Amino acid sequence: MKDPHPKSTALFARAQRVSPGGVHSPVRAFGAVGGTPLFIEHAAGATLTDADGRTYTDYCMAFGPLPHGHAAPHVAAAVSAALSSGWSYGTAERWSLELAELINARIPWAEQIRFVNSGTEAVMSTLRLARAVTGRELLVKFSGCYHGHCDSMLVEAGSGLSGQAMSAGIPADVSQTTLVLPLDDVDQLTATFAAHGEQIAAAIIEPLPANHGLLPQRQVFLQTLRECCSASGALLIFDEVISGFRVAFGGCAELSGITPDLVTWGKIIGGGFPVGAYAGQARLMQRIAPSGDVYQAGTLSANPAAMRAGQATLHQLAEHDDYSTLETLGEQLDERVAALDAVHLVRAGSVFWLRYGAAQAVARSRAAISTAHAELFPQVHAALLAAGIYTAPSPWEVGFLSTAHTAGDIDRLGTALADCTARLGAARPRNA
Ligand SMILES: *Cc1c(COP(=O)(O)O)cnc(C)c1O
Repeated sequence: MKDPHPKSTALFARAQRVSPGGVHSPVRAFGAVGGTPLFIEHAAGATLTDADGRTYTDYCMAFGPLPHGHAAPHVAAAVSAALSSGWSYGTAERWSLELAELINARIPWAEQIRFVNSGTEAVMSTLRLARAVTGRELLVKFSGCYHGHCDSMLVEAGSGLSGQAMSAGIPADVSQTTLVLPLDDVDQLTATFAAHGEQIAAAIIEPLPANHGLLPQRQVFLQTLRECCSASGALLIFDEVISGFRVAFGGCAELSGITPDLVTWGKIIGGGFPVGAYAGQARLMQRIAPSGDVYQAGTLSANPAAMRAGQATLHQLAEHDDYSTLETLGEQLDERVAALDAVHLVRAGSVFWLRYGAAQAVARSRAAISTAHAELFPQVHAALLAAGIYTAPSPWEVGFLSTAHTAGDIDRLGTALADCTARLGAARPRNA
């Protein structure tokens, strides 16, 4: 078959010579679907244009930071304004102050905020802080949740509770301080805290797990986790790097009414620029240097251009009715997918996951997902791409709606899904 993307193919061959796997973050390499990653030259609104001049409606949306689509004019204007006044000072500036105040005014329990450069950095910093505050070492995480690539979070459930490293290069001493529990299992959660509660520094969870498909949690599970942490003196960390400012301005903490001790943000908070943040009560955050004894720093932290991109994005979300606009698009997608047999939609506001295969109950843990999905995924991904629809190149990544998507876009997605899922099972999954 003729290569539909010859320029991307040639660029990828060059990239593989100078970078590991030809990419700068693994999922971008199309390893899970086969073929060559698209090299994007231009993006605007809901549309990507690749090096071969093909256009796609984008539902990956850079994995989450773009609630208003690509190159949103209000963000572009804010960043352009920043460029004329310099873009890195290495000193105090007003943009991070204003962004922190904007957040604090609407999320009052986030009394103090520290900006960093990525979600990973935010998570790593909260874990250090929790260990300092409690004087304990153990961490609890949940299987199927992703918290970035710091050593102690790159663990999965091994035999027994203590974690097995998911990457080479992680000392056993580190992975063994992380206990990995299944999501949605109240009994195992309470038993673990009963046995180890006094050694647990923190439990960290994506309150809306969105990194192994979308695994919405029952309120009772999150509530039990809150109670276990409070009773044992462990800190509860909500990793809202995806869900923060996405499912509501105040994220899952707002929707569930459960207040964590610390929260991590990323993705949307920078409007597509490299920003992460962590926040919580002042009595905890005061332990961070220079007011306290927990060291954390960053040469490019609170970069003024990135801060203004975040400010423009969050200001728009706070002041306009974007969440109901996004919900309307989501409901339209619900309706289109409900009419189809071999594809099922799991959705929380503008975050969605399309699962392929036979119908099953909503999965709330990693183990509950049927294996058919991952087998069928490459075939659907290729068919959608051929139809001009870009989705993340992995069966476990969620999709994102933005205010740049239109009812017409959703309609075309519905039609493309109907066409390609009607053929599922008729052909064997292919890797092309
Ligand atoms: C993306 C993500 C991270 C890591 O953020 P980076 O900016 O990629 O380092 C952490 N936690 C969650 C829930 C994420 O989705």
